[in-house]
Amino acid sequence: MSLAPGRPLRARFPIFAAMSGQPFHYLDNGATGQIVDVAADALLGFETRSRANVKRGVYGLADAATVAFDKARASMAAFLGAGSSEEIVFTSGTTMALNIVAHGLAGELRPGDRIVSSVLEHHSNIVPWQLVAGPAGAVVRAIPATGEGRLDLDALAAMVDERTRIVSVTHVSNVTGAVSDIARIRALAPDAILVVDGAQRAPHGPLDVQAMGCDFYALSSHKMFGPTGAGVLWGRGERLDALPPFLGGGEMIRRVSFDGTSYARPPHRFEAGTPPIGPVLGMAAAARWLMQQDWSAWAAHEKRLGERLLNGLAAIDGVRVHGPQGLQERLGIVAFEVDGVHAHDVCQMLGDRGVCLRGGHHCAQPLMERFDVAATARASLAPYSDADDVDALLQGLPEVIGRLR
Ligand code: PMP
Repeated sequence: MSLAPGRPLRARFPIFAAMSGQPFHYLDNGATGQIVDVAADALLGFETRSRANVKRGVYGLADAATVAFDKARASMAAFLGAGSSEEIVFTSGTTMALNIVAHGLAGELRPGDRIVSSVLEHHSNIVPWQLVAGPAGAVVRAIPATGEGRLDLDALAAMVDERTRIVSVTHVSNVTGAVSDIARIRALAPDAILVVDGAQRAPHGPLDVQAMGCDFYALSSHKMFGPTGAGVLWGRGERLDALPPFLGGGEMIRRVSFDGTSYARPPHRFEAGTPPIGPVLGMAAAARWLMQQDWSAWAAHEKRLGERLLNGLAAIDGVRVHGPQGLQERLGIVAFEVDGVHAHDVCQMLGDRGVCLRGGHHCAQPLMERFDVAATARASLAPYSDADDVDALLQGLPEVIGRLR
């Protein structure tokens, strides 16, 4: 049976017991979510009771580790709605996944080709493209953001042309919480390779990458209540088949010789070296747990809390939210600026009261430039967030502003 979102759900997250007895209002889920008990058990169980390397052992312990690793791949395929387990590449996280795609596609780029990213992107969905575009003579262009921090898809419609080879966009902005309309982007750029950064979307429920129509999808375990150090690159079968490897080493080859090396089939071609086995097993446990939850109850809870937060912030003098004003096509990630006060000071003083926020550019400097701010504070919700967390922020903020001004 799944627990109700909010306070009851905290029973499944060890951090809350560890932090009991002190004020703790964790509103930094956009940076990392807390680990769920089944994921922590899977990680620690592997490391302490069943550790052996995968893929190469023939004795019992190694065989069991390989079987568990294969099961994890099947779980992640189910979570993402992938066509098969072979489409799941284990990575260290979203950043590595996006780098595998960018560097893998580099050889296809010709001078004058266009890669379309967006002003809303995390740096990990901008810089890898710049790294590969430069040497190829290709150009990285950015879909602009609307005033309320959404992708401007009318602008995209005008940008796409026959030189547009790749479109790489975020599914959910880590600053404004805006949800991108991936199906419309697919329709606007039918011939481009469509890459989606799902880092902020993954904690909000199982996915259907095939229905979305994208070619590649990236996520991080630590944002979806799994351990740090793991992630997934999903690639449509024929796209992964055609992609050359990015990292070379053990386990990604068919045969190595100084006369020429041939590579393994996907997903192994992209998994050089010993993978993060414990984190992968933990991530898969988190995914299986997420697939059992009541997602309509969780979404309604997040919407209620998001409205409470947005309405509360709107009522505080000198506070300005950067992002959509409502909860339509937007998740509970709320960036705000306080007139005349630096975001770091706001976060530091609220941190002293146990309210955990993030302050800075959120690895999204082009978006900060668009909003004409150096930094913002950001509160980001999770299913274990409750009204007391939001209220601690809303009650503390006016007091902090009074002291800092
Ligand atoms: N994309 C987005 C939208 C993110 O929010 C983040 C993490 N802040 C990343 C990519 C990078 O994820 P990771 O650091 O886990 O590789």
